[in-house]
Amino acid sequence: MSGHIFKVRLQIVRQGGTQKRAKKAKGPGILSLLPFLPFLCSTLPYYLKPNFENVSRHQGEIMDLNLTPDEQQFRDELRAWLQANVPQPYVGSRNEEEKGAYFDYLRNWQGKVYEAGWASISWPIEYGGRGAALIEQAIFQEEWMRAEAPPLINVLGLSLIGPTIIAVGTEEQKRRFLPKILSAEEIWCQGFSEPNAGSDVASLSTKATLDGDHFVVNGQKIWTSIAHYADWSLLLVRTDPTVPKHKGITALLVDMHSPGVTVRPLKQLTGEASFNEVFFDDVRVPVINVLGEINKGWSTAIATLMNERAHLGTGVYIQFKRNLDRLISRSHEIKRNGKPASQDTLIRQKLAQAYLELEVFRLTVMRALSRMQDQIIPGPEGSILKLQWSELNQRMQQTAMEALGPHAQLHSFDEGQWVFNYLRSRANTIEAGTSEIQRNIVAERVLGLPKSY
Ligand SMILES: Cc1cc2nc3c(=O)[nH]c(=O)nc-3n(C[C@H](O)[C@H](O)[C@H](O)COP(=O)(O)OP(=O)(O)OC[C@H]3O[C@@H](n4cnc5c(N)ncnc54)[C@H](O)[C@@H]3O)c2cc1C
Repeated sequence: MSGHIFKVRLQIVRQGGTQKRAKKAKGPGILSLLPFLPFLCSTLPYYLKPNFENVSRHQGEIMDLNLTPDEQQFRDELRAWLQANVPQPYVGSRNEEEKGAYFDYLRNWQGKVYEAGWASISWPIEYGGRGAALIEQAIFQEEWMRAEAPPLINVLGLSLIGPTIIAVGTEEQKRRFLPKILSAEEIWCQGFSEPNAGSDVASLSTKATLDGDHFVVNGQKIWTSIAHYADWSLLLVRTDPTVPKHKGITALLVDMHSPGVTVRPLKQLTGEASFNEVFFDDVRVPVINVLGEINKGWSTAIATLMNERAHLGTGVYIQFKRNLDRLISRSHEIKRNGKPASQDTLIRQKLAQAYLELEVFRLTVMRALSRMQDQIIPGPEGSILKLQWSELNQRMQQTAMEALGPHAQLHSFDEGQWVFNYLRSRANTIEAGTSEIQRNIVAERVLGLPKSY
């Protein structure tokens, strides 16, 4: 990742170690790009040179943050669409019993987003995306946040499984599955973890044996998020038990409505049941549903995990920024020791720290997006993102508890979102690979340290 920086239209020119401040910073794109100013100006021996003729190039103080006409058009089109189409916020309980209504609300929303061609702008055009460049993805995130648009329901399909199908799937699989991921007609889940295979997922024992043109799957998965309403699963199975563990694994695209699939929800600390145990008893899966090659599923799994860490990271920024903005606003209203929490010395420090951490995270997101422009499968930057977002969110939710005091515990206050977020954040450093595993990846793949085992 070294030397890798945001490189949209901005050309980087070496200046013999001189650090120059960017002078001109105006226009609508500034919000997306501003975080790079301190980073670029203080840490690199570069300055940024515009490729616009109407910007003075003398003295070298040049950074053009204006959007090109095409980018402005992109932003205006998106903004107008969001203004006209973002639904009223969902009201009502989001608890397990009423999940159906909330689920329908989100699924309808994604259908609408898909129809308008905004469901996954970074995907290639031929598969329903817009082949969007980095700057457009940055604009997209900013506009989505500004419009307070609801999330997209098919998050695993959009961020993990779709990109993996694009990277290693057959043309037939791409045509069959990608449009319905985008439209949320088919919801996807990820069947990797098992009771005895989590961090070391290659130890998995769910097996699949060949029977004509089908595999027959038997075994159990666990912690499978949203399996209770998923239509399809990307499932890792053992197809050759006689070879070293990483070599006998195959990735299958499995219809969750097949005979022999049983889903049992597991209740979490938050009270909701968003993940599940999934049992497979003689489930028949056509061989054409192998994603990648038979017995080479480990590389498909790695592609998915890399996508998971990288793409989930880019998605959660919007959510965290909204949470922090709301927390700051509440801290002016809620009293602590007789005065607004925002005036409390410790709380102010922690809010400022949360803001800083979120901005650093935003920089890392942009850097990862930039890197992903050049490669089909993201690299270890996804692990850095994963570590950052999971740990900063836990600290931010702790700060919310301290700032809001007893109010944070009430379900009648902000619909109970604070206590829910706090409890839910405990899982952040486990899901999508634990913090220890991410640090191992950074140690090995970024720092070049030897393996820990
Ligand atoms: C909310 C949530 C949603 C999830 N959703 C899904 C899903 O949709 N699909 C899916 O397949 N899985 C899912 N998971 C499972 C998740 O991927 C695993 O929980 C995770 O990979 C850890 O595996 P484990 O729970 O078996 O813990 P273990 O692997 O048993 O780890 C136990 C502890 O040992 C540490 N440890 C393990 N190996 C090492 C090592 N080499 N070096 C240092 N420390 C180590 C771990 O960091 C951890 O602290 C989800 C988990 C959560 C919490």
